[in-house]
Amino acid sequence: MPTLRELGEVEAVRRLTATRAETPGVVIGAGDDAAVVRPSPRNDLVATTDAFVEGRHYRPEWIDPEALGARLALANLSDLAAMAAVPRWALIARGVRADHDIDELLAFERGVSRVLSSHDATVVGGNLAAVEGPEWSALTLIGEVESGGAWTRAAARPGDLVAVTGAPGRAGAAVRLLGEIDRAELMREWPGLWEAWSVPPDRIAAASALAATGGVTAAIDLSDGLALDLARVCEASGVGAELESGAVPSDPELTRAAERWGEALKSVASGASDDYELLMAVDPNAREACARAAAERGVPLTFVGRFTDAPGILAWRSERGSREPLLARGYDHFAG
Ligand SMILES: [Mg+2]
Repeated sequence: MPTLRELGEVEAVRRLTATRAETPGVVIGAGDDAAVVRPSPRNDLVATTDAFVEGRHYRPEWIDPEALGARLALANLSDLAAMAAVPRWALIARGVRADHDIDELLAFERGVSRVLSSHDATVVGGNLAAVEGPEWSALTLIGEVESGGAWTRAAARPGDLVAVTGAPGRAGAAVRLLGEIDRAELMREWPGLWEAWSVPPDRIAAASALAATGGVTAAIDLSDGLALDLARVCEASGVGAELESGAVPSDPELTRAAERWGEALKSVASGASDDYELLMAVDPNAREACARAAAERGVPLTFVGRFTDAPGILAWRSERGSREPLLARGYDHFAG
C-alpha cells in the first residue's frame, strides 16, 4: 500500500486512469491535456460541480474512501436530477496529502465510478494537487437534457403543489447526532438516518420519469434543508409557499430524533440537512401522473403544500387552518 510520496504523481495518475471505463460519447478520454466529448444531437449540456472538504463536509472516521467517492458522485447527480438531466461525463480534482495511501485514492475512484457507471457515465479526466492540511475532493459532472427541457427553480406558479421525494431532514439529523454520540452507536441505533447521510438517494431515473409527465414546473435538490431550499425556489419564482404541518413525510427514526431534542417533527424535517432529495413544483392537474411516475420508480413522493401568490412568504398551515411562519433555516456554508 504505497503512499503518493513513494509512488510519485505520474505512477499515481497512471493507476487511477487505468481503472476508468470507456463509454459512448468520449472522443478523447483521460491521458491527454483535456478530454473531448461528443454530446448527443438536439440535447443541451448541463454542468455542475460540488466539493467535499475534510473536517467540513465529513470526517475520515465517519466514512471510508469508496463510500466518500460514491457520496460525492451522488451529491453531483442530485444537481443534475434537479434539472431533469442525465449524467454523461465527469472530471475529478482532489487535494491530497503526500502521505495518503494510493489504495484509498483507488477506492475513492471506484466509488465515483460505481455510481456513474449505473448511468453509463464515466470520469474523463482529473487533477491531483498536493496539500498539507485538510484534503478536498471536487467533482464536475456534465450531463444532457433534451434541448429546452431542463427544469429550473424559477417557474413555480401560485397554485402549483409542493412535492418532495423521500423524507427530508434525516441526513441532517444523522450529522447532528454525530455531535452527541459516536458513529458506532449511530449506525446501531439510528441505521436509517446514518444511511440517509452516507448513501444519498439517486433520483436521476425518477426525475426523468417525472419530467416525462410534463407536470413539473420547477425543481431544486435538497442540499441545505427543506425550508431553505424551498425559499430559494420561492425567491427565484417570485412566489410564496404554504406547507401543511401534518403532511411532512417522516419515519420512526426521525420522529424519535425530534423527541430526543424536544423539537417539533416539522422543524427537524425542514431544518439544515443534505438529503439530496428533490423538491418540485407540480401542476395540480398532473398530481396523479407524477404520483404514478414516482411510484413506478419505487420513489416515495409526498405532496406537502402549495405555492402561493405572496412572494417570499413561507408558512406552515395546520389541519385546522391556522398559520405560523416557516423560517427559512438551513445549512449556510459560510455562517456555519
Ligand atoms: Mg442543487
